[in-house]
Amino acid sequence: MVIAEIQYASATDVDRAARSAHQAYLDWREVPVVDRVQLLYRYKALLEQHWSELAQVLSDENGKLLDDAKAEVRRGIQMVEVACGMPSLMMGDSLNDVASGIDCKTIRQPIGVCAGITPFNFPAMVPMWMFPFALACGNAFILKPSEKVPLTAVRAVELLNQAGLPPGLMHLIHGEKAAVDALLHHPLIRAISFVGSTPVAKYIYATAAAEGKRVQALGGAKNHIVVMPDADMPKTVEGIIASAFGAAGQRCLANSVLVPVGDAAGPLLDLLVKQTKSGFEMASLITADHAQRVRGYIDKGIAEGAVALCDGRNGSGRFVGPTIFDAVTREMTIAREEIFGPVLAVMRVATLNDAIELVNRSPFGNATSIFTASGKSAREYSSRVEAGMVGVNIGVAAPMAFFPFAGWKNSFFGDLHAHGKDAVSFYTEQKVIMSRWF
Ligand code: NAD
Repeated sequence: MVIAEIQYASATDVDRAARSAHQAYLDWREVPVVDRVQLLYRYKALLEQHWSELAQVLSDENGKLLDDAKAEVRRGIQMVEVACGMPSLMMGDSLNDVASGIDCKTIRQPIGVCAGITPFNFPAMVPMWMFPFALACGNAFILKPSEKVPLTAVRAVELLNQAGLPPGLMHLIHGEKAAVDALLHHPLIRAISFVGSTPVAKYIYATAAAEGKRVQALGGAKNHIVVMPDADMPKTVEGIIASAFGAAGQRCLANSVLVPVGDAAGPLLDLLVKQTKSGFEMASLITADHAQRVRGYIDKGIAEGAVALCDGRNGSGRFVGPTIFDAVTREMTIAREEIFGPVLAVMRVATLNDAIELVNRSPFGNATSIFTASGKSAREYSSRVEAGMVGVNIGVAAPMAFFPFAGWKNSFFGDLHAHGKDAVSFYTEQKVIMSRWF
């Protein structure tokens, strides 16, 4: 169903946005940070007031369940709250008498016009990983949301305008590759923040870096959830279902490979299949085409010899039901590729060591979880696993706004991650000032 049509930006539109943003930045960087964050305090109040309405827009265009959409907007508001602390976050260091009579200090200054390119699955939260921090640091911002979910961004920016956004400081443009390319090559744009799939993240990173821009490009994922025999099975099953099937599996933190260790497999799978078959409310996939692609992966799983314990292909249109495959091997497509749907592949191993070895062979390194009652196993797993975010008895290890979103390997290209202190470093230049007075 078509609920809205949007106008795509041409290269000329992008150029106009970049020039206007640059002009606005020249004034904004002179505004003291304590005054800049007043905009965000007013914005936070408006977001609270319009929380349910924004969540409804999000749910309507994305297909996410309303409660999930509300939780997402809440996460976005938390980003704004953290960015309100920019006067403390932007502080530099200083040391007197680094040599006789010479003092040294570091300061952070904004970098100019920054741009953000965001995916369909978090239409409120992911843009808010970016623009509240960038603006609080003294930059201007251009946002290009996913063309599949433009309306949440429209409403979020309307509210920012209502909060008193200075003219030209933030622009919202729509489009696909052509609009993104215009951003990547524009000389006035100094930094690019990207969140989306790995092939596009690689392209964005290479192209923008070759243009001399600062880049952070967060990519796709294939996350593993390890279950030890000593885990609390009912709570573990709850965690697995929320992680693998919540938002219909369309989360970069969704765990889509289940790795039962030793004797965990029997009781775990019995309960998991029983709970899954008992039914729960599912979100829809973003488009009917994507749902068809997910059904194609299920076909492939069966063709390659995996055993379907639950088969979600009976859903129609944008709906696919929860699917669980047992006896999945490393070579199978469903073990290797990001499906971005409610499909869980079970890969049994004998020991924790085998689990770590299996997980570390993945080219992705976004997130992973372990369920166990043993502090020793949890500690060993957390320290040896090659992933940027680790959940211990937590199925979706989403860092809060004041910590970084820290993917590794093919899940991240760049140096400074999203939100937390990394965002402050990403959206500022550092300057070292040494002074001596005669
Ligand atoms: P996508 O890569 O298709 O699109 C992301 C953005 O890039 C959109 O704004 C889109 O318009 C643009 N784009 C698409 N193709 C492009 C191209 N060829 N050149 C330039 N720009 C292009 O991703 P999606 O389908 O919207 O989102 C799902 C993906 O995002 C999944 O892979 C998921 O894992 C990933 N994701 C990652 C994180 C993370 O934090 N690592 C968070 C959310 C989503």
